[in-house]
Amino acid sequence: MLRNDQIDEWDREAFFHPSTHLAQHARGEAPNRVIRTGSGCHIEDREGTKLLDAFAGLYCVNVGYGRTEIAEAIAEQAKELAYYHAYVGHGTEASITLAKMILDRAPKGMSKVYFGLGGSDANETNVKLIWYYNNILGRPEKKKIISRWRGYHGSGLVTGSLTGLELFHKKFDLPLAQVIHTEAPYYLRRPNKGMSEAEFTAYCVAELEALIEREGPDTIAAFIGEPLMGTGGIVPPPEGYWPAIQEVLDRHDILLVADEVVTGFGRLGSMFGSDHYGIRPDLITIAKGLTSAYAPLSGSIVGDKMWKVLEQGTDENGPIGHGWTYSAHPIGAAAGVANLKLLDELNLIENAGRVGAYLNKALAEAVGDHAHVAEVRGEGMIAAVEFQKDVEAGEFFDPADKVGARISAKLLEQGVIARAMPQGDILGFAPPFCLTESQADEIAGKTAKAVAEVLT
Ligand code: PMP
Repeated sequence: MLRNDQIDEWDREAFFHPSTHLAQHARGEAPNRVIRTGSGCHIEDREGTKLLDAFAGLYCVNVGYGRTEIAEAIAEQAKELAYYHAYVGHGTEASITLAKMILDRAPKGMSKVYFGLGGSDANETNVKLIWYYNNILGRPEKKKIISRWRGYHGSGLVTGSLTGLELFHKKFDLPLAQVIHTEAPYYLRRPNKGMSEAEFTAYCVAELEALIEREGPDTIAAFIGEPLMGTGGIVPPPEGYWPAIQEVLDRHDILLVADEVVTGFGRLGSMFGSDHYGIRPDLITIAKGLTSAYAPLSGSIVGDKMWKVLEQGTDENGPIGHGWTYSAHPIGAAAGVANLKLLDELNLIENAGRVGAYLNKALAEAVGDHAHVAEVRGEGMIAAVEFQKDVEAGEFFDPADKVGARISAKLLEQGVIARAMPQGDILGFAPPFCLTESQADEIAGKTAKAVAEVLT
């Protein structure tokens, strides 16, 4: 094993970290942590510090760390056949089996699975399929995609555009012109405090309708949203939101993409967020929980309505001109099959619902009454605590005070990883599904201590 100081030096010398303050990292001002191993809900770094990972990596290690069943499936696949492509009708037993397993679990009306590597490329695929679809239907002007402010859909050119967070646009010349944004369904940030949840839903729907009218319905191809907004703040939809949005989209013949990269495969205590909230999507984006991040793999689940048109397109134009070398990579597929089996065998989705509800309640009891806690919210195994300077007046802290980041740092000192969400003073929790009630109590108790230390 390399000496710690050697790894530290190479890290600063050679490694370009994503989503990192590059200058601070290079100067050694920002913390770096080299993770060595993990088991269940815990990871351990090279110094031997054990941490309770209450964010499951980037809400992806859903079955928990150190699952030998998945590691062995990966090893066996690598020994048998590490790679073959999926172009022109090729496949492997693992990729075909996984496609079937996904469709068996998917909401009604879904037809096929296209495999990629991560959530960003899956959404990139979705946008291309949407454009292709409207071209085949002879509607070349129907191309714009509506996303929500604070939505997160990836970091690529079109997907970074779909992402409605300023940090992902600034200085990158994004968003691209084909992407437009509408109101975030974020009740805490409603335009006036007197609005009920149902009134706020009506307001979001009216904003969407107005945007569609302004742009012209014939120019709008699709709407994309996470069933429960993740990176933008962990925000469950307000009452009646999805059925009302769906009605507007149906009326204007606009496709609906449910980005289930976080919610897919159990995070909300249901197999898919679409089923949880009664959404009828035309496309579903999946990644993270598909393999619990044991290997990179994503997918676009294509609904019946689009599939028919894609087939027609290839009859008219030849093979679909869209493919990655690593589409349906056998190692990712083997990890996916083993992961989905494990979710079933260990009843982990049921556990996510039950212990997740317990965690949400424990957090509410631990910090809900604190003078600076504006909201404790969540669903299944995902939760957030949001802080305000003056809760009564609805006044937020100055972002320069970095309240959320400071609380998360205090929590880390106690051995618990929660995520300071990128926009706002929001502490996010999304532990592995194997979390126990006593671990939930530990998270809640230490959160209360961290909050008390920063906000006296
Ligand atoms: N969609 C959602 C909802 C996500 O949360 C993420 C990642 N956090 C992505 C897409 C992008 O996935 P990836 O980082 O794997 O490209």
